[in-house]
Amino acid sequence: MSTKTTLSFSFEFYPPKTAEGAANLRVVHQQLKALKPDFFSVTFGAGGTTRDKTYETVLAIQNQGIAAAPHLSCIASTQENIADILQAYQQNGVAKIVALRGDLPSGMMSAGQFRYANELVNFIRQQTGDFFEIHVAAYPEVHPQAMNAAMDLQHFKRKVEAGANAAITQYFYNADSYFYFRDECEKHGITIPIIPGIMPITNYAQLFRFSQMCGADIPRWLYKRLEQLGDDREAISQFGIEVVSKLAQRLLENNAPGLHFYTMNQATPTLAIWQNLGL
Ligand SMILES: Cc1cc2nc3c(=O)[nH]c(=O)nc-3n(C[C@H](O)[C@H](O)[C@H](O)COP(=O)(O)OP(=O)(O)OC[C@H]3O[C@@H](n4cnc5c(N)ncnc54)[C@H](O)[C@@H]3O)c2cc1C
Repeated sequence: MSTKTTLSFSFEFYPPKTAEGAANLRVVHQQLKALKPDFFSVTFGAGGTTRDKTYETVLAIQNQGIAAAPHLSCIASTQENIADILQAYQQNGVAKIVALRGDLPSGMMSAGQFRYANELVNFIRQQTGDFFEIHVAAYPEVHPQAMNAAMDLQHFKRKVEAGANAAITQYFYNADSYFYFRDECEKHGITIPIIPGIMPITNYAQLFRFSQMCGADIPRWLYKRLEQLGDDREAISQFGIEVVSKLAQRLLENNAPGLHFYTMNQATPTLAIWQNLGL
């Protein structure tokens, strides 16, 4: 297993919508900052709906001393719009970015000037050279819109060839899907770090809904046990921490290059998993 210093750890937030959400995030940020992650990342709403809030949240985090990486999705956007956002981040010394295609918000029909994330990565490199460290998304269980796994891998490779430095995966609960994907990448000459995305389990209904949307598989054994715990949030939380800690442990023992936690703006589950990992 690599040492902590050579691994990449990051925590993802979404930009809060309310004053109460913002106050909560300040506390969560302080708690997680104590773990000294490599960076925090902040999501970007479909079609740019959180553009300003993502920007504000990123700057607020970066000003507190640890790097922040904005997510930036290109669908439904123009080149001019993306160029403006890149310039604003560059001027503020924000040097990491998570580059995504994103999904069209419901009701919006036109993809805009970018169709896929590889075009965004290309554009970022054209506009800003090597300034940004670019992370892209990867899908060990295959992106839900992909024609098949082989095509999805080819499309992933295009993002790497366009200049991505690292990838963060969609979350998964089956470690073998990650190991298989990583082996396939290696066979296809993809050598960038592929960092597993870790989704703590706290709310079964929400997890089920998300997983249906993003194509993440909830294995039957996990689904059945969560179902059995019903509305008992505390029991779900404890069980979730145990399951996800074991998953993360197995990933690190098998040379995953780090972990990216989808925190859902909560500190407790991530802190508990972190402690179980002895990091
Ligand atoms: C780590 C991570 C962070 C995320 N953060 C956000 C966020 O902040 N905001 C948000 O809205 N969403 C976010 N998402 C979700 C993401 O936007 C969706 O999964 C989206 O559907 C795909 O984005 P992508 O960047 O992976 O797209 P792409 O890499 O462009 O792939 C999208 C689909 O198109 C296919 N494809 C790619 N290139 C081509 C091509 N040239 N020709 C034909 N098909 C092609 C791929 O196989 C895939 O099926 C995130 C996902 C991950 C894993």
